[in-house]
Amino acid sequence: MLAIASADDVIELVHTARDTDAALYPEGGATALDYGLPARKPGYSVELAGLNQVIDYPWRDMTITVEAGITMQSLAAILAEQRQRLPIDAPFAEQATLGGLIATNYSGARRFGFGTLRDYVIGISAVDGNAKLFKGGGRVVKNVAGYDMCKLLVGSLGTLGIITQVTLKVRPLPEASALLVARPVNLAAAEKLLAALNTSLATPVAVELLYGNQFGDEWRFIVGFEGSAAEVAWQIETLQAEWPREALAEELAVIDQLEQQPGAWQELTDFSLPAGDVPLVVKFSVRPSQVCTLLDKLRTFDDQAAFQAHAGNGIVIAQFRQIPAVGACKFLLQQLQPAAHACGGYAHVWSAATADDFTRPAWWGGVRGEMVYMERVKQQFDPQRLLNPGRFIYEND
Ligand SMILES: Cc1cc2nc3c(=O)[nH]c(=O)nc-3n(C[C@H](O)[C@H](O)[C@H](O)COP(=O)(O)OP(=O)(O)OC[C@H]3O[C@@H](n4cnc5c(N)ncnc54)[C@H](O)[C@@H]3O)c2cc1C
Repeated sequence: MLAIASADDVIELVHTARDTDAALYPEGGATALDYGLPARKPGYSVELAGLNQVIDYPWRDMTITVEAGITMQSLAAILAEQRQRLPIDAPFAEQATLGGLIATNYSGARRFGFGTLRDYVIGISAVDGNAKLFKGGGRVVKNVAGYDMCKLLVGSLGTLGIITQVTLKVRPLPEASALLVARPVNLAAAEKLLAALNTSLATPVAVELLYGNQFGDEWRFIVGFEGSAAEVAWQIETLQAEWPREALAEELAVIDQLEQQPGAWQELTDFSLPAGDVPLVVKFSVRPSQVCTLLDKLRTFDDQAAFQAHAGNGIVIAQFRQIPAVGACKFLLQQLQPAAHACGGYAHVWSAATADDFTRPAWWGGVRGEMVYMERVKQQFDPQRLLNPGRFIYEND
């Protein structure tokens, strides 16, 4: 484990790794290190949590430049002083770092209304596998020259560069925030509620469909609103009036985030994090119109599974508790990935108890057309394959 205090430390470390052919495994808060195939090549873990300073916060411009090891909780506290925020849901925010969030491209319920990290990272600095510090974007919102390194690095799982500094555009904190919670009669009824949103006058920031865990064998349909107090109140009233009553098994509850239950959004954020032993967690991305069809199919594979669908975005996170006798790897290849393809999308693994047995196509999904370009990009940024080798999608790792 090597602790980092500056970008120069990272450059020096990559030089050493190049000379000794040792692998480098970047580490932020270590909350998602089981994401990706297990590391096999010997090397060093590069501890980035010490790289946590605020470089510049011109809050009137609604941007902030920080070092990548800052925790999401510290970042939120600094922004809140000016009534601003980064509207990306982060689990275990006291530990998870901005760099880790960017590397994994993590997003939660609010992505329906606010998008993902690719929409907020406007400048980035990183050290590549050639020990070169490179920069993309800038510190101002309007900045369109050159290749878009920011979008490239978001979701690259630390395989193209060790991220050292980030400029974000930020948003105002909303005046009010509320969740409208319904218990649909069944999955078919949930589909009706979802369909009703297509023609609704309300504009939610989150559309969630959940099953299992703390809800037992019941479905929950949760719609989130944020904005001025009047806006939020009007939207809730509107949606309550529009929803087909026959689809609802229970009265609607309104949870006012600020007044009644401050942790309600956080519970949504934490729902998909395996509590206890969940042998397999898989993320599906399908057409939003296919979410209920997919959920119906997935339940036939495991009646003890729990699901969180960011339904408005076509994302389903499934926590499987019963793995068929063929094993998790074949379960992916033979059943889960075909189910995703049938719904116009794909599936990849979030975490697996038997990760050592996994092949790359089983973990990350089949080889797609863009792979050839991704290999070429990797070759430019990290020709010696020192950064997180073997963990991501590259065939030649
Ligand atoms: C599949 C999955 C499972 C998750 N499970 C959990 C969970 O069980 N508990 C929980 O609290 N949260 C979990 N999360 C959410 C997680 O908190 C976020 O993704 C988080 O932001 C990771 O931040 P971290 O600092 O802990 O990253 P780490 O876990 O330290 O690193 C995650 C990945 O990012 C790379 N990385 C980290 N920092 C950098 C950097 N500066 N530059 C380049 N690469 C970097 C690492 O090499 C690693 O591959 C999960 C997320 C995903 C995608």
